[in-house]
Amino acid sequence: MEIKNNLESVRRRIAASCSACGRDPAQVGLLAVSKTFGPEAVAQAYAAGQLAFGENYIQEAVEKIQALADLPLQWHCIGPVQSNKTRLVAEHFDWVQSVDRLKIAERLSAQRPLARGLLQVCIQINIDGGPSKSGVPPQEALALAQALAALPGLRLRGIMTIPEPAESEEAALAVHRRAQALFAHLRSTGLDLDTLSMGMSGDLEPAIQAGSTLVRVGSAIFGARAPLSP
Ligand SMILES: *Cc1c(COP(=O)(O)O)cnc(C)c1O
Repeated sequence: MEIKNNLESVRRRIAASCSACGRDPAQVGLLAVSKTFGPEAVAQAYAAGQLAFGENYIQEAVEKIQALADLPLQWHCIGPVQSNKTRLVAEHFDWVQSVDRLKIAERLSAQRPLARGLLQVCIQINIDGGPSKSGVPPQEALALAQALAALPGLRLRGIMTIPEPAESEEAALAVHRRAQALFAHLRSTGLDLDTLSMGMSGDLEPAIQAGSTLVRVGSAIFGARAPLSP
């Protein structure tokens, strides 16, 4: 019941943000980030109408995907992808939003089973220059996007960002505006992109104001996560 209520309140936040900036709520997708929560939690969200789920830890995700194979769910990989995990990602996920190197994209392309159709891909951008973060610097995004768009088995859909928590809503908006400008620039070169994945539980309003087409929401739906064991 709590997950259902939480989902409804997240959907209300999305609708309110859209109406505040004159956007159509149908243009903003909701990805439920279910990392650390079990298959029962995902099944509850599904029962409340949620179809798309995001996972960070690939092994954990594959177990959940297999346990819930009877449900028509869409799975997005949003966590770091190491070379030795690309096969699992290519075989089990529908989307991967966290591609930040050509080598990873090439492995995903080679390993995507034909029968699974195209793997939908976003490039993760280090939009605020966080030093320890994955994601390509914005100035390298175009070259990677062009290389990636030519790979078989993949369909490049857009970009994804994970900015550091900002000190104010204005600061969050300014960072999201940079991603919006980069997304517009990539599209202006002729790349056929439709996905600007940004905004989480704490900053979905400024993300939507800056044009996000997909917010990724975990704790506001499933509750606080237990800290990871070391
Ligand atoms: C965990 C996570 C989210 C969701 O974060 P919340 O603050 O719980 O909404 C979104 N995107 C990525 C990449 C994440 O790792």
